[in-house]
Amino acid sequence: MIRAGDGVRWLFGDQLGGHFLDSPDQRVLLIESRKVFARRRFHRQKAHLVLSAMRHRAAELGDRCDYRQVAGYAEALNGEPVSVCHPTSYAALRLVHRLPTVEVLPARGFGTSMTEFATWASGRGGKRLLMEDHYRLARRRLDVLMDGDEPVGGRWNFDADNRRPPPKGKNTAGIGVAEPWWPVEDEIDDEVRADLDRWQAEGDISFIGVDGPRRFPATTAEALASFQHFLDLRLTAFGPYEDAMLAGDPWLAHSLISSSLNLGLVDPLDLVQRVETAYHAGGVPISSAEGIVRQIIGWRDYIWNLYWHLGPEYRGRNGLRANRALPRWFAELDADAVEARCLSSVLTGVRDHAWVHHIPRLMVLGNYAMQRGWRPAEVTDWFHRAFIDGYDWVMVPNVVGMSQYADGGQITTKPYAGGGAYIDRMSDYCGGCVYRPSVRVGPDACPYTAGYWWFLDRHRAEFAGNHRIAQPVRGLDRLKDLDALIAQENDRGSAAP
Ligand SMILES: Cc1cc2nc3c(=O)[nH]c(=O)nc-3n(C[C@H](O)[C@H](O)[C@H](O)COP(=O)(O)OP(=O)(O)OC[C@H]3O[C@@H](n4cnc5c(N)ncnc54)[C@H](O)[C@@H]3O)c2cc1C
Ligand code: SF4
Repeated sequence: MIRAGDGVRWLFGDQLGGHFLDSPDQRVLLIESRKVFARRRFHRQKAHLVLSAMRHRAAELGDRCDYRQVAGYAEALNGEPVSVCHPTSYAALRLVHRLPTVEVLPARGFGTSMTEFATWASGRGGKRLLMEDHYRLARRRLDVLMDGDEPVGGRWNFDADNRRPPPKGKNTAGIGVAEPWWPVEDEIDDEVRADLDRWQAEGDISFIGVDGPRRFPATTAEALASFQHFLDLRLTAFGPYEDAMLAGDPWLAHSLISSSLNLGLVDPLDLVQRVETAYHAGGVPISSAEGIVRQIIGWRDYIWNLYWHLGPEYRGRNGLRANRALPRWFAELDADAVEARCLSSVLTGVRDHAWVHHIPRLMVLGNYAMQRGWRPAEVTDWFHRAFIDGYDWVMVPNVVGMSQYADGGQITTKPYAGGGAYIDRMSDYCGGCVYRPSVRVGPDACPYTAGYWWFLDRHRAEFAGNHRIAQPVRGLDRLKDLDALIAQENDRGSAAP
């Protein structure tokens, strides 16, 4: 048992790596709270990963760790003096501030600190906080892929090279991508699985999604092995195919490192250094090296800092007044109820792995929710519970702002809405679908194509002044079948397509 007052660091379950400690022999308090799982229905595999990672960390720390299994956090602490790194949600921050003996330190595990971001944001003179500007500043400040003051490769941005559709008729091996690295489960996983089965059987806790072999790292060593495998065998194809979708392979060339980063198992700055080393060793194109660095110190830090910058009220934004409830088939990940091949395949990925990559999240799941007018708060909560890497800080800006346009355009300049033509271009889904991406009305009408026009029509007023979307809004008037389309989609509503 750890004595009070000896510099104990309380680690939340998403602060598990060595970089959350001041020294390698610091004493640690970890609190496993069952109440967290009773409050909301998480994906079964997410609950497994979080518990497995915490228990693996406790086992690594041995006598230095006091691991407490309790109902809630507050009763676990008993007024002992401990320090904790800034937690990752408003709710957890309120909790630690309520506890008088807890010292709250600055956040760790991100490349751009809150102070650095605030200084940048306040110097913008009210201009939009562009991700690209934040990212370039971070590259310079952290000296990542820089050649003096210039970006390595002569360009900051390779997005134009990195949006290739998958070559038609090929599987992942056909585009030169090795299978991802998979962990091997151990006795700690067995114990977690037995506990989850028991909690479920006792009836006070239930999950969504299915159980399955653990696919994501539970320790720092596993996360680094997984990332090295990505650097050696998958990074080259990451850039060109980062937006592509394949029915036969949800993983494509993605790094699968988000859950490890968000559990705090690995330090993002360490990862980008490893990318740089791989790039300088040769064989990795700059477009792929830059592409992954952009994600880790660009997008991830931008989203983290926006969460705090935009304030606690931001989560409740509903600028498009979307008021329909999330339908049961979607909430329950019932992929078999869906005929639309893209949506069924993506929901299967969420049900079976608690993970799909960013384009299915944005353009298949989020796009559908926005087109159908589902409540952004429910959509955010669903993403948070259903995804292996979902935490409050990352879901709120990504879903409320990026994906649902519920903030009226504070983060993005236009809604990420798209019809079947986009999905057809970026995937191999449409060929085997009962619908046709080019058809708007009738039994073959693609629910995404029809849904796109239905959505634009409902929001003509809001979008008329937005030059990035004004053109398609004007296009509504040229659709001779608009009335029939609206009647058809009013009928379809939130039914499984
Ligand atoms: C609607 C929506 C919801 C999302 N929810 C989450 C979430 O809950 N947790 C999460 O980590 N990511 C989220 N993302 C971002 C992104 O989809 C995932 O980080 C990524 O798919 C994880 O897979 P990967 O590790 O293989 O990523 P890669 O494609 O290999 O990218 C590398 C890393 O970049 C980081 N990253 C890239 N984009 C973002 C972003 N927008 N926000 C935060 N980190 C980013 C992640 O840490 C990721 O691991 C969301 C995106 C959308 C559009
Ligand atoms: S036709 Fe429409 S519903 Fe079917 S896979 Fe293509 S985009 Fe999805």
